[in-house]
Amino acid sequence: MDKLKKYINEINDFPKEGIVFKDINPIYKDPKRWTELMLPLQKLIYRTKPDYIAGIESRGFIAASAIAFKNEIGFIPIRKSNKLPGKVIGIDYKLEYGEDRLEIQQNSIKKDSKVIIMDDLLATGGTATAAGKLISEAGGDLIGYAFLVELTKLRGRNKLDSNLLVESLIKY
Ligand code: AMP
Repeated sequence: MDKLKKYINEINDFPKEGIVFKDINPIYKDPKRWTELMLPLQKLIYRTKPDYIAGIESRGFIAASAIAFKNEIGFIPIRKSNKLPGKVIGIDYKLEYGEDRLEIQQNSIKKDSKVIIMDDLLATGGTATAAGKLISEAGGDLIGYAFLVELTKLRGRNKLDSNLLVESLIKY
């Protein structure tokens, strides 16, 4: 997976000063590279057989919806505040650059169904932790997380429930 690092651009001071933003878009526009990146996720799905993939807005939607569609698994969007219609369950949380809120639609998950959360990147783990709480509150059985990129120095992994599976594909 490390050989894919050359297709990830690093943008300094985006979206805020001091952040080195990992831009994965060059991988998505190259079908060979994208397939290479998605293969371990494909294996993860075979192994764990989730009922739903929940993607975190917005960059998490890309891999999550692609893998859900390919495997005929339900896709659940976890979105920023005031984006989802109808009744929602919400949670406020801190992230590497500020504060935010995530929401999920009420009744979007059949009780006790197995859910894997996907996002593009694991940094401090705040977003993923909040997303996990939402899935549990909505009645889902969270079985794990998958990230395309992990910034290991930020130790976000340590924030996540150690009983859950945590897969990250490209580690910095
Ligand atoms: P965190 O909650 O700190 O783990 O941050 C993870 C979320 O913020 C993910 O949804 C990422 O898309 C985004 N994010 C945080 N840091 C970066 C970064 N250096 N490059 C790209 N995305 C980032």
